[in-house]
Amino acid sequence: MKLPPFDYVSPRSLGEATRILAESGGSARILAGGQSLMPIMAFRLATPDKLVDLRHVPGLAGVEIGDGEVKIGAMTRWRDILESDALAAAIPLLREAVSHVAHYQIRNRGTIGGSLAHADPAAEMPAVAVTLDATIDVAGAGGARSIAAADLFTGALETSLAPDEIITAVRFPRWPAGRRWAFREFARRRGDFALAGVALTIDGDPEGRVSNAHIGVFGATDQPRRLSKAEAALNGSRLDETTIAAAAAAAAAEANPSGDIHGGADYRRSRVGTLLTRALQSTSAV
Ligand SMILES: Cc1cc2nc3c(=O)[nH]c(=O)nc-3n(C[C@H](O)[C@H](O)[C@H](O)COP(=O)(O)OP(=O)(O)OC[C@H]3O[C@@H](n4cnc5c(N)ncnc54)[C@H](O)[C@@H]3O)c2cc1C
Repeated sequence: MKLPPFDYVSPRSLGEATRILAESGGSARILAGGQSLMPIMAFRLATPDKLVDLRHVPGLAGVEIGDGEVKIGAMTRWRDILESDALAAAIPLLREAVSHVAHYQIRNRGTIGGSLAHADPAAEMPAVAVTLDATIDVAGAGGARSIAAADLFTGALETSLAPDEIITAVRFPRWPAGRRWAFREFARRRGDFALAGVALTIDGDPEGRVSNAHIGVFGATDQPRRLSKAEAALNGSRLDETTIAAAAAAAAAEANPSGDIHGGADYRRSRVGTLLTRALQSTSAV
């Protein structure tokens, strides 16, 4: 299907980009890699009159590994995340999650900022950002601000971004030594959006009990979210079969999927429990 007509602008600075967005009064859209925007425009689900391409805006791409946090520029592509060994050493869950995103060609163009802004409830990165307590840096015509990932997502394909705001980076807190993690998803074919998925990190106390469990879910809720009851079932307990079964049951009950032609609500709910069980049975340590 052909795209609807639109104007195209290629600003050379962040200030120019936010000014163009502000002046357009909400009728312009940011173009990152086009891997979600082009399909939705082709289907006439979005008909912006102007695309503001971020490709030539400096300072928006790259990975910085700092002492306290890892910063990934919004225009960093999936491929760059996959290929960064330093990033994989610092937060290994990121490489594992991105390895499930789409296909080679899409990962060559798609960006982390575009995925967060698109806010697909079945996408990996929004759920990972919520699970890992990421902070989203944003610039708008009125200035810059930072948003906790949990506050960025407000519904399916909905965020708290203003129309003139551009995601500039996402920051993840560094992990403590010994943190355990796992990532599991179920999709009908590799690269498809997941019918359900979980991201998990757990720490441990000196007595071998779980502490600080973070469980995020995607594909089985209206927006990426953490499963606080399943986390509570883990915290303070030893990671044995009884604890894992209790956490999986809590997760399945807490997930609130809506069914579609790819999988019914009950099916997705049961997948969440199964995926969390498998994740808890096979955690890796940093
Ligand atoms: C066949 C196919 C399969 C896919 N499978 C998966 C999958 O399994 N998992 C998955 O997660 N994704 C999947 N995707 C989507 C893909 O990951 C996209 O790369 C991702 O959604 C972001 O695309 P993009 O960076 O090209 O952003 P664009 O498509 O350019 O933009 C997406 C949206 O975000 C806005 N935007 C972009 N950048 C910014 C920014 N910096 N600040 C504010 N707003 C911004 C745009 O205006 C637009 O509304 C798939 C896509 C296709 C076509």
